Amino acid sequence: MRILLVEDDPMIGESVRKGLRQDGFVVDWVEDGEAAELALASHEYDLMVLDQGLPRKGGLEVLKSLRQKGSMLPVLIATARDEVPARVKGLDAGADDYLVKPFDLDELAARIRAILRRRAGRAEPLLRHRGVVFNPATREVTLGGIAVALTARELALLQAFMDRPGAVLSKAQLEEKLYGWGGEVESNTVEVYIHALRKKLGTDFIQNVRGVGYLSPRTV
Ligand code: CA
Repeated sequence: MRILLVEDDPMIGESVRKGLRQDGFVVDWVEDGEAAELALASHEYDLMVLDQGLPRKGGLEVLKSLRQKGSMLPVLIATARDEVPARVKGLDAGADDYLVKPFDLDELAARIRAILRRRAGRAEPLLRHRGVVFNPATREVTLGGIAVALTARELALLQAFMDRPGAVLSKAQLEEKLYGWGGEVESNTVEVYIHALRKKLGTDFIQNVRGVGYLSPRTV
């Protein structure tokens, strides 16, 4: 899961980035509203954590123009202003949730998981697919009830397949999931990690769709 963090306070930005990374998120951090719009235009994110008070372009403006463009990107606003009007404005401008600073990092991660769950149309916190159970809160994976150890990159790919079971994911989409986990994403990187996942979860878990990408079929 790739998150765009928009925060101009260096201390808060650094601690949020670190905290979310520990929770298994890939985080791109920018420090003003214009940089946020540039990042949004050039990458595919799963969610944005948006500070309201930002230089160059305010958080509310960024949010409004995002929604005007028809973007469904989940947005959680962080506000220093513990006032009802600021939060109401943010929610009415299209935010999915808000947190008042200073906030707890565990609460932020839990709220992000809740938003992503709702967006995927799920109420159940655990992801289940083809005998594999993934717990986004603990990052634990089991296959037929037995724990499976996966690397951060393998987990990032697995989550992409489990979020959209039966959907065909292009190589480019999967490459996006691998950024931020260290090392170069080279032309055969996706294949390497698909191979590793098949070895751990079964050859049939991921199928190749020639010329299009990969999918994890719904039926076993
Ligand atoms: Ca700020």
